[in-house]
Amino acid sequence: MENGKKIWTREEALALHDQPLMDLLFQAQTVHRAHFDPNKVQMSRLLSIKTGGCAEDCAYCSQSARNGSKLSASKLLEVERVLSEARKAKEAGATRYCMGAAWREPKERDMEQLVAMVEGVKALGMESCMTLGMLDDSQVFRLRDAGLDYYNHNVDTSERFYPEVITTRSFSDRIDTLNRVREAGIKVCSGGILGMGEEGEDRVDMLVTLANLEEAPDSVPINMLMPQDDTPLADLKPIDPIAFVRVIAVARIMMPTSHVRLSAGRSDMTDEMQAMCFFAGANSIFCGDTLLTADNPEDDKDMALFAKLGLKPMAAEDHMECKKKAQQEPPIPNLRPMTPPNTSVEAAE
Ligand code: SF4
Repeated sequence: MENGKKIWTREEALALHDQPLMDLLFQAQTVHRAHFDPNKVQMSRLLSIKTGGCAEDCAYCSQSARNGSKLSASKLLEVERVLSEARKAKEAGATRYCMGAAWREPKERDMEQLVAMVEGVKALGMESCMTLGMLDDSQVFRLRDAGLDYYNHNVDTSERFYPEVITTRSFSDRIDTLNRVREAGIKVCSGGILGMGEEGEDRVDMLVTLANLEEAPDSVPINMLMPQDDTPLADLKPIDPIAFVRVIAVARIMMPTSHVRLSAGRSDMTDEMQAMCFFAGANSIFCGDTLLTADNPEDDKDMALFAKLGLKPMAAEDHMECKKKAQQEPPIPNLRPMTPPNTSVEAAE
C-alpha cells in the first residue's frame, strides 16, 4: 500500500491471471458486484474529428501516414458538424461523447475549435472525452477550463513490447501525458490493444502499469486487434477469446472502481464472448457502427444483445452512485488466487 492505494506487483498480477478460469471469473464478478450494478453498461460514442495522415507509426493503425495506408487525410471537422453528431448520439442513449483526432499532438491553430467542441458537448449535458495525442501543459489547461471530463491516451501494451509496435514516441512520453492530464484534474481513460503478437505476460504488465498509476484510470478500454489492411499487423491471427476474457477479469480485479471498456474488436466477437467479458467485469462499450476507422456493432445489434443478457445502459448518475458506494466500502479482502495456479494461459493460445 502507498498512501492507502494498493500497489500491484507483477507476481501478484500474474498469479491472478494464471489461476483457473472459473476462480478468476468468480473473483472478478465478486469485485464487480461490490462496486457496480452488474447489469448496467456505460455507453460512449466515438467520432473521428480528424481522420488519417497521422505522423506516428503505430503498427496497428490505418491512419498512420507511415503505414502506406490508402486512407486520405481529412481536415478537422467543423464544430457544428461535431455537435450535430453528438446530439444524435445523446438521443441514441450515449452519455459520453468521445472525439478522436489522428495527430501526434494538436497544433495551436486547432485549439480554439477543440475548445468550442468541448463546450458544445458539455452544453448538451453529455460527458466529454478527447483523444488528440500528446498534450503540453497549456493545451491541457485550456481543455480542462473548457470542461473536458476525460482524456484518452492508451499505453497500448507493456513497456517491453511497446517498441515492437510504435517507434515514433516512447512509452514514457505516454505516461508523461497521462500524468499531466491527471494533475490538471481531467479524468484519465487509458488501456491497450490485445492480439498484436504480445505474450500473456505483456498483457499483465500493461495492467500493472495502469493500476499503479498515481490514480488508476477512470476508464480502461481493452481493445481486440482488428487487423487493418496495409498495416504491419494485417496478417496476425486473432487472440484466443479466453485469453482476452482473462485480461478483462484481471483488469476488473486490479482496478475495481474503473469502467473497463470493451472497445474495438466487438464486431469480431460472438455474443457469447461479449457475455463472458461482461461477466468478467467489462461495464462500458462504444456504441455506434464505426470506431474511428474500424467496424463496430450497429445500435440495434447491441440492443438485441442487451435484451438477451438483461443489461441496461448506465446513466451518468449511476456512475456517480457507484463511485460513492466504492468510497464507502472497505476494499475486497483476499485477492489472492483461491487455488494455486496450475494452468498456463500461453499453452492454451
Ligand atoms: S493510433 Fe493514433 S497516434 Fe497512432 S498512428 Fe493512429 S492516429 Fe496516429
